[in-house]
Amino acid sequence: MLRATFFEDNPILGESLRRFEASLAAYHGVEEAIGVGSGTSALVLTLRELGLAGQEVLTCSHTFAGVVSAILQAGAKPVLVEPDPLTGQIDLEKAAAAIGPETRALLAVHLYGHPVDLDAAARLCRDSELLLIEDVAQAHGARWRGRPVGSFGDAAVMSFHPSKNLGAFGDGGAVLTSRSDLAQGLRVARNLGKSGKYDFQRLGPNSKLDSLQAALLEVKLRHLDRWVARRRQLAEIYLEALKDVEGLELPVVDPRAEHAFHLFVVRTKRRDELRRRLAEEGIKTSLHYPIAAHRQPGLEAHLGAVEAPLAEDFASTVLTLPLSHEHRDDEIEAVAGTVKEILASPGQGTSP
Ligand SMILES: *Cc1c(COP(=O)(O)O)cnc(C)c1O
Repeated sequence: MLRATFFEDNPILGESLRRFEASLAAYHGVEEAIGVGSGTSALVLTLRELGLAGQEVLTCSHTFAGVVSAILQAGAKPVLVEPDPLTGQIDLEKAAAAIGPETRALLAVHLYGHPVDLDAAARLCRDSELLLIEDVAQAHGARWRGRPVGSFGDAAVMSFHPSKNLGAFGDGGAVLTSRSDLAQGLRVARNLGKSGKYDFQRLGPNSKLDSLQAALLEVKLRHLDRWVARRRQLAEIYLEALKDVEGLELPVVDPRAEHAFHLFVVRTKRRDELRRRLAEEGIKTSLHYPIAAHRQPGLEAHLGAVEAPLAEDFASTVLTLPLSHEHRDDEIEAVAGTVKEILASPGQGTSP
């Protein structure tokens, strides 16, 4: 079926893309989805299209540095707000305090797959007349009060990078919105600023989601809820097995949230030692992220002086344990057992 539709389809802006955009919008309960070339592109195009160039955008200092880069690429000014030290999510009281006369938007990144408190975020944006933009790149399949994330803001951006919960076989991204003006603008913006075949209305990149990727994603979307449920089951195994381990902080799940567990991130002062010893046992871990965004050489110069000690603390203590919907229970149990063993032994020096 896939083969028949793809080969008969236009590889660019074809029927497969239209169908996937409709399915993606329906899944999230929004009016429109616009497929673009990557999550980063989704961010840059959306911020520009919302008129945020030259304006301040609030986002969390503990984040994927690409988010901050995208805000800068859109010509907007990132205002980095420190995270809640317990959850790692943006501290919305600090966000409220950081609002100034040029602040126009809150970019809420559902980091690791856990939703930002969308009740509080929506309230803050309503009271302060800010646009609410969700970054759902890590949170495909997450819900807030039973409703899919990505449906709460003026717009939501997503990435189909192969590593994400809903991954393509290459780069891809999308914007979700129920604002028809924004959707219309983005369809022009992603296609060199053209409205038809010959009509260049303005400047714009070439950043469309290919029909091939869309056809594959259309099939994968049907499995998303099942895969995310499996991730949550496996995360429960970690949470239960590691709950009393001294010196280890586990992900905190808000009772209103369904965590998509894109990443299972723990924190420990013995991070570097734990990572090394797990590697010796053949267990591959990763770091999300080892360098705070404001310390990235390519971003620092654009940001001016940023004080974000909490973000730096996260950067030196976070460790991502293996987790995918394809893991077996016993594999996760074995990783948890090894983590416990290593942390029960006396430390061999601490992380910086
Ligand atoms: C992956 C990611 C992006 C960027 O997505 P790409 O498709 O790789 O450009 C943006 N925001 C967050 C939070 C991400 O994790």
